[in-house]
Amino acid sequence: MISAYSKDQFTNHFISRKTKKKPFDDEVMETVKEVIENVRNRGEVALKEYTKKFDGGIPNEWIVSEEERKAAWNEVSSDVIESLQKAAENIRSFHSKQLQQTRMMEMTEEIISGQLFRPIERVGVYVPGGKAVYPSTVLMNAIPAVLAGVNQIVMTTPSRGGGAISPILSVAADIAGVHTIYKMGGSQAIAVLAYGIDGIQPVDKIVGPGNAYVAAAKSLVFGDVGIEMIAGPSEVAIIADETANPRFIAADLIAQAEHDEKARPFVFSTSQRVLDETMIEVRKQCEVLPRKEIAEVALTNEGAAVFVKTIEEAFQLVNALAPEHLELQIDDALAHLSKVKNAGSVFIGHYTPESVGDYFAGPNHVLPTSGTARFSSGLSVDDFIKKTTFVYYSEQALQHAAPHIESIAFEEQLEGHARAVKVRLEQ
Ligand code: NAD
Repeated sequence: MISAYSKDQFTNHFISRKTKKKPFDDEVMETVKEVIENVRNRGEVALKEYTKKFDGGIPNEWIVSEEERKAAWNEVSSDVIESLQKAAENIRSFHSKQLQQTRMMEMTEEIISGQLFRPIERVGVYVPGGKAVYPSTVLMNAIPAVLAGVNQIVMTTPSRGGGAISPILSVAADIAGVHTIYKMGGSQAIAVLAYGIDGIQPVDKIVGPGNAYVAAAKSLVFGDVGIEMIAGPSEVAIIADETANPRFIAADLIAQAEHDEKARPFVFSTSQRVLDETMIEVRKQCEVLPRKEIAEVALTNEGAAVFVKTIEEAFQLVNALAPEHLELQIDDALAHLSKVKNAGSVFIGHYTPESVGDYFAGPNHVLPTSGTARFSSGLSVDDFIKKTTFVYYSEQALQHAAPHIESIAFEEQLEGHARAVKVRLEQ
């Protein structure tokens, strides 16, 4: 089911930037441009039109009421609530250690400089709701924002044909600390978050995953509003040696593949036996998977199994790929962590499947995809913080610095800059 690739074939097909697929096609972009322009210009009227067209019905109110939020708690089993609360605790604990205080870089009588850390004022979290519900997405996106001190956290998710949103999303929003929930989905929701409509204020930054329409919309509103990233298809790269268990590898490849048809499950192994047995296991385990049809498409069209001569060769490929998720199913895996240069998140050892991080352990599951882990990182408290630098110079400090400032200003032919210094020292 998963095709075998040589090292070179894998590089050409999955790593080369020349052959890399775009996260969304031109047709999606055209639709989304129109949606955004219309919502921006015609506000709620356009929002209603698109919600009816794409979500199958218009909700009575765009905002989930307090009563609906309270009632949702009775519709979710106490076991699930407990699991969400435990996951939230772990996420909170992990992210709280990322918080930073205002920092002084220099502090003398003559010069003071440093960095102020200030939360973003209003954040919008997009929570997908088309094909499935993702309470974990609510926790992963909203908890770091709460910890950063964001004043207003709003969340939006499509209503079910104009009716209520899924109660588990509402419960997760309460656990995470989301202030307001909107019943809006797709690119029309992104347009509302970016530009507002009567009664709904725009936000300063939009975070959260979504389908191609959501991703395209985020890319178009970027600049007017911040975004954390444009997520491409989810991916896992598993490095496995002779000690790896083919049943575990297969289960993890399938867990990736069941996300959607474009998800990318890769395995790199120094053992041909492990690769062969993994392929048999993938077939067997897929047979009994509820999302078998989706997983099979992803495994067949997007998956790859690569035989490598050494573990070092596997790390070379993986570092060039810069996968969203990297699993090390190898002997003494922790000792190999230093070889990782580019990856969103690493899952170490035979008993740490990606699912541990997807839901529970604490590190964020919003991670850079499509090779962007070469230059970016997963969602963190930092995404909700602005760092404002500040500087103070006394008259004496300015006197000392003046010749240098003036000489650079003249080189740049910006004499006004030099005068701004001179005028002070002439007094
Ligand atoms: P979604 O909420 O992203 O998209 C549904 C919306 O798309 C609808 O509300 C509708 O308005 C819009 N839409 C649908 N068809 C359209 C069309 N033809 N034209 C214009 N708009 C249209 O939910 P989804 O579709 O289930 O997609 C969720 C995606 O998010 C999946 O790809 C999933 O794998 C991904 N996801 C990623 C993560 C992560 O952390 N990386 C987590 C959860 C989900």
